[in-house]
Amino acid sequence: MNLDMATLLPNLAKASYLIAAVLFILGIKRMSSPVTARKGIVQAGIGMVLATLATFAITGGHNLGLILGAIALGVIPTWLWGKKVAMTDMPQMVALFNGMGGGSAAAIGAGEMIKFVQTGASPSKTTLVLAVVGALIGAISMSGSIIAWAKLDGRMDKRFTFPGQQYFNLLVFVATLAIGAMLVMKLEVPLIVAFFVLALLVGILMTLPIGGADMPVVISLFNAFTGLAVAFEGYVMQIEALIIAGMVVGAAGMLLTQLMAKAMNRPISGVLFSNFGGGGQSAADIQGSQKPIEASDAASLLYLAEKVIIVPGYGMAVAQAQHKIWELCKQLRERGKEIKFAIHPVAGRMPGHMNVLLAEAGVPYDLIVDMEEINPEFATCDVAIVIGANDVVNPVAKTDKSSPIYGMPILDVANARQVIVIKRGKGAGFAGIENALFYQDNCKMLYADGQAAAAALSTELKAIDGGGGH
Ligand code: NAP
Repeated sequence: MNLDMATLLPNLAKASYLIAAVLFILGIKRMSSPVTARKGIVQAGIGMVLATLATFAITGGHNLGLILGAIALGVIPTWLWGKKVAMTDMPQMVALFNGMGGGSAAAIGAGEMIKFVQTGASPSKTTLVLAVVGALIGAISMSGSIIAWAKLDGRMDKRFTFPGQQYFNLLVFVATLAIGAMLVMKLEVPLIVAFFVLALLVGILMTLPIGGADMPVVISLFNAFTGLAVAFEGYVMQIEALIIAGMVVGAAGMLLTQLMAKAMNRPISGVLFSNFGGGGQSAADIQGSQKPIEASDAASLLYLAEKVIIVPGYGMAVAQAQHKIWELCKQLRERGKEIKFAIHPVAGRMPGHMNVLLAEAGVPYDLIVDMEEINPEFATCDVAIVIGANDVVNPVAKTDKSSPIYGMPILDVANARQVIVIKRGKGAGFAGIENALFYQDNCKMLYADGQAAAAALSTELKAIDGGGGH
């Protein structure tokens, strides 16, 4: 049989795009549960390698040196960074990597547009519209993600506003759209340059005023933008793998954005345009005082309790207290106590932050309960231990209309018979506001680093019954 390699190879490569697409979709599906998430990531990664190899086959080794150089430039620093990044810095890293994806899509758009000008080619209007829209979304995602990274990394103010900001932003956006429309009519290099400068500016301007607890939603939205941009540019370049991967990322990002916005009870338009978080009005006028407790007394409360719910938050990640808190829980379980972990969807600094830490410590998945399911249980719980959580347990979200977190669903820790809050001092949470829970009569403050406090509770618990259990 005389096989024509020149047609066989590209066809094989295109078929492998399909396999890659199936791997992406199965991978994403597996990522939805902590039990299968690792496998999902590996699966999607294999899909990506396959798609990359297929692209090599299609391009027939053209510009091989440049492609390999670009891959090395992308893979080596990110691999090294990914290996050493602290769990608490993960959101910043995600924001930056996502921005790079958006930037790449925008660069593809720019490259294609300039190529059309240089070769005098006349692509279809659909191709031009998608190239321009993809480039716009990609550029917005890149500059916006960089600002999000700088804010999350504490390199710039959480919120930056000026009078008439929304009108100014609208003006810049409309100007960008107008130049984009002109590009669809006629491609010219100076217009292309002006378009990209303005598109990057839109990303910066729209992210500057967003602060506080809305940042994760914004990062997820930019992630969806990047996916869409990649898909549109995939159409322009006629690369199926880019279209499919972009659409999968775009759809997943959109769903995650909606889920997170819902978890914070904020419409996406509210996230983007209403200057949430940070400063805002002062917290409600809170009555009472914070009542400290020693580890020995807190351990006695735990010893007498039958049902204990642990509420982890960002401070547990900072303290890396997940192992010590699970040790404490194991001791409590040995003594016949019922233990559950309550997870707020935006506890910590990234979606699933707490789940990852608890999984790392070996906490069985069936003890980890989502907010909606666990909330009615606080009323029947003897002791709730809040470790490093603040905003996600703040009752002012329900009572104080002037609070920047008003309307955000919270864990109903305040309903527990006794609450023990482990934190280092009187530091505020991410939204920068006072927490009414800490002043409640049933709430005691165990001021310490999360890890040290969990270890002290374990020691004190053993001291009560000699470590005997039962
Ligand atoms: P939080 O409101 O940020 O509060 C964390 C608390 O932990 C602080 O009040 C701090 O108080 C304490 N803490 C810090 N280091 C500690 C340590 N070593 N040991 C013990 N305690 C320590 O945390 P959260 O309740 O988890 O809420 C998350 C917030 O982040 C929400 O506003 C959410 O919207 C936002 N956010 C979430 C994501 C996401 O996707 N999950 C991403 C970005 C932002 P002390 O200083 O007194 O110790």
